[in-house]
Amino acid sequence: MSKVPELFSSLVFNETVMKARLPKDTFKALMKTRKEGQPLVPDVANVVANAMKDWAVENGCTHFTHWFQPMTGITAEKHDSFIYPIDSEKVIMEFSGKELIKGEPDASSFPSGGLRATFEARGYTAWDPTSDAFIKDDTLCIPTAFCSYGGEALDKKTPLLRSMNAINKQALRILRLFGNTTAQRVNTTVGPEQEYFLIDRDLYLKRRDLVYTGRTLFGAKPPKGQEMEDHYFGVIKPRVKAFMKDLDEELWKLGILAKTEHNEVAPAQHELAPIFTGTNIAADHNQLTMEIMKKVAAKHGLACLLHEKPFDGVNGSGKHNNWSIATDDGVNLLDPGDSPRENAQFLLFLVAVIEAVDEHQDLLRLSVASAGNDHRLGANEAPPAIISIFLGDELTAILDSIEQGKHYAQKDKEVLTIGVDELPPLPKDATDRNRTSPFAFTGNKFEFRMLGSTVSIACPNMMLNTIVADVLEKYADRLEKAKDFTKELNTIVHDAYHAHKRIVFNGDGYTDEWVKEAKKRGLLNLASTADALPYYTLPENVKLFEHHGVLAKDEVYSRCDIQLENYTKQLHIEALTMVDMVYKDILPSAGKYMKDLSEEVVTKAAACAEVTSAFEKDTLKELSKLSDALYKEVKVLQKAIDGEGKGSVQEQAQYSRNTLFAQMEKTRKVADEIEQIVGKSYWPYPTYGDLLFSV
Ligand code: ADP
Ligand code: MG
Repeated sequence: MSKVPELFSSLVFNETVMKARLPKDTFKALMKTRKEGQPLVPDVANVVANAMKDWAVENGCTHFTHWFQPMTGITAEKHDSFIYPIDSEKVIMEFSGKELIKGEPDASSFPSGGLRATFEARGYTAWDPTSDAFIKDDTLCIPTAFCSYGGEALDKKTPLLRSMNAINKQALRILRLFGNTTAQRVNTTVGPEQEYFLIDRDLYLKRRDLVYTGRTLFGAKPPKGQEMEDHYFGVIKPRVKAFMKDLDEELWKLGILAKTEHNEVAPAQHELAPIFTGTNIAADHNQLTMEIMKKVAAKHGLACLLHEKPFDGVNGSGKHNNWSIATDDGVNLLDPGDSPRENAQFLLFLVAVIEAVDEHQDLLRLSVASAGNDHRLGANEAPPAIISIFLGDELTAILDSIEQGKHYAQKDKEVLTIGVDELPPLPKDATDRNRTSPFAFTGNKFEFRMLGSTVSIACPNMMLNTIVADVLEKYADRLEKAKDFTKELNTIVHDAYHAHKRIVFNGDGYTDEWVKEAKKRGLLNLASTADALPYYTLPENVKLFEHHGVLAKDEVYSRCDIQLENYTKQLHIEALTMVDMVYKDILPSAGKYMKDLSEEVVTKAAACAEVTSAFEKDTLKELSKLSDALYKEVKVLQKAIDGEGKGSVQEQAQYSRNTLFAQMEKTRKVADEIEQIVGKSYWPYPTYGDLLFSV
């Protein structure tokens, strides 16, 4: 392996490469576009495109692609080669500014949630110059936004970029009020911690449920699961270590700051955390990370499972979205700071987040809603489906004292005036980490822990940026008009905390008491995707997105429909796979075992009258009962599938949840009982024990 610093970002057309390869003027114009969003003039685009192509070809590329993030939640690409015929026998490698700036993939095969019906089926991809082009599989990948011809966003990236602009605008207003004249832009930063499972690839391929749906639809509990708690932070096995080494190298080449890798709670479960970056880059990088994890795993004879709940009975996988707000000159606005002014500014941003999260619990909840994540939220392993904020005792005590007009800790002084007095020091390392909170303050950032492992982080961050921008706008309006800035600031912090402190909860979020307490506090508890998504289109939410220019009304509706449809489709595929496995494998295997047992009984009796067959007979009786029961359940499941497709997308999603999924659970239960008594060599699939301890 070449040295890491040389390897790092070697497949990225980054600023260093641009500077080295572009004429000075072109480089300057491009930097201006990146920083200020100025459109590129065609001449400049041509020069950039040519330099990109030369660099790509030198690095072994033959093709280019516009790389985008449609609403499928994964990335899409359509490859074109650079070849350009100059006569009937010769080609040269060509790439124009036009090809760089705009692409026209056929939009009609991507989900558009009704936008397609009213607008043209064609869509286009537009270069996002804020995200560097890179090389993947000998192809130059150009990060792009994907829109319809009417301009509606058909992807996850466009609204994310818009939300970043929204929070930038409002946060800058606040900073100016605090006398900051240097910051030119405020960005949100994200470091997503990614969980995943690694299992042996040959075993993976033997499970149609894993291949089709990403999770096991059947599987009896193995004798050993995660109860010994011996996997978390355990020694990394050689095969996994080799995978991680390879993965790191591939990620580093793409400029992805892969930093921490360790074993997670469940057997075969691991985590990768990158160092944080700007949100849109983090979103690109997380998509790439997931894709490359799968590829590198395959190279090592492994399968990387990114599903939220690949195995019942052991922990599922999530993604912790560490989020903060920072200026372009490197100041983290959620860092408490030392001076009175920094503290005051911190408190204002802090209560803005508290207010935003309380006001928009629905949007945060639905941004992480998916069929896969329904298995985690509220299931005693991930944070509950109820949104709350963990602040820690110190910070809560400070806010409580502000609210109650009491001075915190320093008794000899008057009541604390924000912006004038020094705040009591806040603990820098938040050691009292609360792992059960869905949204935890961890010293200088918030950790949103409800994300499922497969989800694109674009949507949750689009929500966070937008809802915080909305609150900051209100504050900025008030503060700009205030006669006495400090007084108004104190009032805002006091009132905001007073009105929204119900969202703060520092206790154990996994308990039933919290569920009851949250209900008393009036917090939302949206148990499933089908329950959460309808909130997307509430008039106040549509207004919010429109107001900040993040999503137009049609875009909100289309997104809601797409997510509901995805949910219904996912469960549909799971149900079909289940029926298929029961009829084709599980019942026949049980039958074969019963046949052999029966023959054994007969043979044994014929051989010698005194020989008894207690085990065979008991098992036969039990298995034949269970077989009949499974047959009955699977027929009900088939009926439930036949009953799909009625009503609105919302009604269909509810049906999937209440009827289809409920029947899948029943079917599985019987099949798992069968698995427990069928002889190992008869069982058609690798068992949980085989899968979880396969590497
Ligand atoms: P932990 O104890 O949870 O591992 P770390 O400090 O190592 O905490 O951070 C976990 C993740 O949070 C990493 O991806 C890290 O880069 C990210 N992170 C740290 N600071 C910030 C920040 N200001 N904004 C966004 N993410 C951050
Ligand atoms: Mg963490």
